[in-house]
Amino acid sequence: MKPQLFTNVRIFDGEGTAPFPGEVLIEGNRIKTVAKGGGLARDGAEVVDGGGNTLMPGMTEAHSHITFTNIGKLKELGEIPQEEHLLLGLEFAKLLLDSGFTSLYSAASAKLRTEVVIRNAINAGRFPGPRLRAASPEITSTGGLGDERQDHMYHTGIELIADGADAVRTTVRHCIREGVDTIKINISGDNFVKRKFGRECSYTDAEVQAAAEEAHARGVYLACHARANGAVKLALKHHFRVIYHCDFIEGETYDLLEEQKNDVFLAPAIGIIYTTAYEAEPWGINKAVADHMEMYTMLENCSKTYGELRKRGMRILPGGDYGFAWNPLGTNARDLEHFVNIIGFTPAEALSAATKLGGQIMDIPDLGLIKDGYLADLLLVRGNPTENVKILQDRDNLIMIMKDGAYHKRPGAAAETTQKAKQVVSVWE
Ligand SMILES: [Zn+2]
Repeated sequence: MKPQLFTNVRIFDGEGTAPFPGEVLIEGNRIKTVAKGGGLARDGAEVVDGGGNTLMPGMTEAHSHITFTNIGKLKELGEIPQEEHLLLGLEFAKLLLDSGFTSLYSAASAKLRTEVVIRNAINAGRFPGPRLRAASPEITSTGGLGDERQDHMYHTGIELIADGADAVRTTVRHCIREGVDTIKINISGDNFVKRKFGRECSYTDAEVQAAAEEAHARGVYLACHARANGAVKLALKHHFRVIYHCDFIEGETYDLLEEQKNDVFLAPAIGIIYTTAYEAEPWGINKAVADHMEMYTMLENCSKTYGELRKRGMRILPGGDYGFAWNPLGTNARDLEHFVNIIGFTPAEALSAATKLGGQIMDIPDLGLIKDGYLADLLLVRGNPTENVKILQDRDNLIMIMKDGAYHKRPGAAAETTQKAKQVVSVWE
């Protein structure tokens, strides 16, 4: 492909500052030059008139689950055969790219090898999809979040059950052997399940330590599900890189988090809390049930906790556990709106968290900004998302999607995605 020259665009470069008019030249898979105001030479380049729209970096989903296939209950994920599950994962990977997410930092795969295989297939150019940091399944204890077994009832699910430090160590080694980029371990319980134990730890210090030692020694990333205060403290003690949720933190935990602010990424995953609170009634979660699950308390906490963590300079990223029936994949950009409405980010700050910080959590050099020499993951967006992040929720507003210098959606191309994803869902229905 000839070098591509985007002209007549307003550039949001990912830093969080106001967009500015300019031109951007793409050569190969990189941004060659960003020119404020414009004036770049046209020779040899294909000129793409952006029509005054906004050019911004592709977004990162920091808590993605492309193999959570819009199910009503976690248990259902264990009822999808491997083959159908892989197809669904590929479809949803593409749907997220169609939705403006050029990078996914996974917060668990439903089956051990599924995301690893999808990542490899995308990287080999065999299927379209975002950059993917593939995760292990949820590593959990007996009775922990994700353990959907029941006595006398045969069931395999999404869980990898490991009790005791030695078993945790073996499980982490097993996942690493199969090629995951990141280990996900459920240190606390959750309020979304019947037992409602979001404030309790489900792993001991020794078990968490075993997971951390293996992950650190073998150079894979380490992420955890941690709603309980004690769980966040364990994660910090053992130097987890990504800590999800933090709903019930208190006291010195704020200071402990701040001490590690340059090493830790946080993602509250507001999407699932919000939709469970307000939009899940057709799935049996009415206001009373949602209240029992403490969804309204958790939303209030989100606002307070993350308001404070934001002031302390923590890196907080959008990504909201999309993949449940009432919080479906493809609607992931809603998390940016939640950041604005619930935590109090400005739209530009929410966008910067999804782009600049996205590049950082992906740990890919030169990703997440529109800047000379950076990787060309770009969106051309109809309108100005720094005034209203909601426009990102409509795929029709994504005029152009580019990943690694290649067009996924050319300007002027019609969106054709949603239908396809639905067809594949019908494979297992
Ligand atoms: Zn999750």
